[in-house]
Amino acid sequence: MSTTSPVRYLLHRFARRRGRQFVGGTVLVVLALALQRVPALVIGVALDSLLLESRAFTLPLVPDAWIPTDTAGQATLVVASLVVAVGGESLCRWYGVLIYERANLETLHDIRTAAFETATALPLSAHQAADRDLLSVLNDDVDNLEDLFDGGRAAVQYGGDLVTAFAFMLLLNWNLAVVMALLPIVVAITARYYAGLLEPRYDAVRANVGRLNARLRDAIEGIRTVKSLVREDREAERVGHASGEYKAAAWSALKLRAIYNRVSWLLAVAGVWFLFGVGSYWILTDTPAVFTQSLTAGTLLTFIMYTFSLMEPTRKLAVEVLDRIESGQASSRRVVPLLRHDAATARNDDGPPLSVTDGGVEYDAVTFDYGEGDDDSDDESTLTEVSLTAEAGDFVGIVGHSGAGKSTLVKLLLRFQEPDTGEIRLDGQPIADHSVHSLREHVGYVGQDPFLFPGTVHENVAYARSDATRSDVVDAAKRASAHEFVAELPDGYDTEVGERGTTLSGGQRQRLAIARALLADPEILVFDEATSHVDTETEAEIQRTLRDVAADRTVFAVAHRLSTVRQADRIVVLDDGRVTERGTHAELVEQDGSYAGLWAVQTGAVAAAAHETTDAAETEVRG
Ligand code: ADP
Repeated sequence: MSTTSPVRYLLHRFARRRGRQFVGGTVLVVLALALQRVPALVIGVALDSLLLESRAFTLPLVPDAWIPTDTAGQATLVVASLVVAVGGESLCRWYGVLIYERANLETLHDIRTAAFETATALPLSAHQAADRDLLSVLNDDVDNLEDLFDGGRAAVQYGGDLVTAFAFMLLLNWNLAVVMALLPIVVAITARYYAGLLEPRYDAVRANVGRLNARLRDAIEGIRTVKSLVREDREAERVGHASGEYKAAAWSALKLRAIYNRVSWLLAVAGVWFLFGVGSYWILTDTPAVFTQSLTAGTLLTFIMYTFSLMEPTRKLAVEVLDRIESGQASSRRVVPLLRHDAATARNDDGPPLSVTDGGVEYDAVTFDYGEGDDDSDDESTLTEVSLTAEAGDFVGIVGHSGAGKSTLVKLLLRFQEPDTGEIRLDGQPIADHSVHSLREHVGYVGQDPFLFPGTVHENVAYARSDATRSDVVDAAKRASAHEFVAELPDGYDTEVGERGTTLSGGQRQRLAIARALLADPEILVFDEATSHVDTETEAEIQRTLRDVAADRTVFAVAHRLSTVRQADRIVVLDDGRVTERGTHAELVEQDGSYAGLWAVQTGAVAAAAHETTDAAETEVRG
């Protein structure tokens, strides 16, 4: 399957099921184009037989028996066929384009939703690796696929224009049609030639617009820094420079474009003059030697009208349509690799569900490394042979200096990453052998920077369970010590938060996130304390919250402030990915190791001790 080209893959998986609409729409559009050829043909015939009376009234493909013999009847037929052709053309084109476009939109909708479903199913590691690229694939490239399908429609439209006009020409006078075949060839070559010259200039314009926008954005977003360092003039100069480069690039493209527009206009005029010259000579000399057919004034008129259908569509096909299809193809090369991931496999959700009753957790000699691109300067793994046990209902505190691997340790419990070796068990069951979804139903997670979606407090807390009632939400908020501050918000639980709503403090966001995690009543709660400074009051609040929450479930809390986990049943000290100390707060202080050192620093005991030492040293020197 992976060998098929991206475009074939899209057609096969998404467009094929709408094959009837795509084909039906195409047929109707081609029919409309054929009908569009009728008026020029009928007018040519009317000119010859009714006005000049130079030949009998006949229509190609129509049996003579059907044609009235009197002039009035023939005139009526002319008018009637014009009306029917124009009406029929409009109807066919309207309906044909409508069903084609509908199939087009539905296909894009299917591709977009499938791509999003796969993207969200991908493991977190894939998201971290792809970062903004994934968003641009989902957003820009999926939109850009429209070029592919719309380009296909335009190809049918303009190709049909060209083909039907040429077919009618062949039918009327194949000699002259062969001569006129030169015209689209010249037009196509000229158009491609200029497109080749214009493309790099347009690329330069786009690149310059990008640079200009980036400059403007940086200057405005960083306005405080700009102002505080008095760099307004410097920024104005830089924006002026970028704008000047954009102007130069745009001018260069514009000049060439103007030349190309004139050239193609002259080509069109020359085409018609050429046809008129050849045709007049033909009529006057009554079939010159090289030709075998005779030409009438009416047929020449029809040819002149068709000539426009040989030129404009060719120009569009040679440049616009080709470019759109190419750009759509480029996007398909980025979207299809994502779509080829089977969502079910990507979700990695095979294996039976976990059956969690108590919430006991064991880490058994877990080693993990982020691998290449790891920020670790040494060759050590991020986590090495970490073993720890949390009995059901335990409150486990995880401490250590920044970068020691604390967050990584708890993320492994949610399978955001998978251990390289070793095993994590939940109530005795290896989590790697069970469904990820069932695991995450039992393990609540509050990350360092909890995300609040634009919406109300209620919606944010109820995010995990859309059927949650207001009393469920209030209950969870109370358990997370969030109820008090929510009640004081302008609209209580209906206050808008997130992007455009009330801005909440870090501690408030965290408590809402805890409420959200508690709503699902998980047996285990993982809390990763924010590094950003929360005030002492908030910290005390969260400390109390965690203690309450820990009363009826297992809690893992990563803490930067040791006071947060002072009450923990067990504390694990990590250093460079290894467990170096473990015990209760009292035991660790007693051991007088690195925990005791950290505790001394954080409680200010060390500062005092440092003073004492200096004093002592001074005394010594003086003494
Ligand atoms: P802590 O929570 O103790 O501050 P982390 O678990 O966040 O430590 O990080 C441990 C180490 O792993 C650090 O060296 C960090 O730079 C690295 N690290 C963390 N996350 C990633 C990641 N997504 N990719 C690569 N390296 C990472």
